[in-house]
Amino acid sequence: MSTPPHLSTTWGPNESAAFNDDLEASFMLAPSAKGKRLTFIGKCPYCAGPVNYTVDLELVPSVPGAPVGQGVSELVTVIECTCTEPHPGRPPGTQGCGQRWTTVVEVAK
Ligand SMILES: [Zn+2]
Ligand SMILES: [Zn+2]
Repeated sequence: MSTPPHLSTTWGPNESAAFNDDLEASFMLAPSAKGKRLTFIGKCPYCAGPVNYTVDLELVPSVPGAPVGQGVSELVTVIECTCTEPHPGRPPGTQGCGQRWTTVVEVAK
């Protein structure tokens, strides 16, 4: 898979923007030492910019009805783009292209 170039799209949520499934699927998970946070590292499926987004597991709701067993639970969480490339219209002091997306991860208990 080749990495597409960064798209300097106008900042903000845009549900009609193209979503790159390959980039979303290539995200890696870096659990912290204490296991209460998950860090997602990859490329934004919208703008292809670098994303390093940390989720506090205590703030992530468990999925109603999700299968639980074998010491693994399934989490649905939202990742926000944190790319540092320029996007027109981005509010000062913020990162990313303004897009967010939902992902499902399996987390060992
Ligand atoms: Zn982005
Ligand atoms: Zn970007």
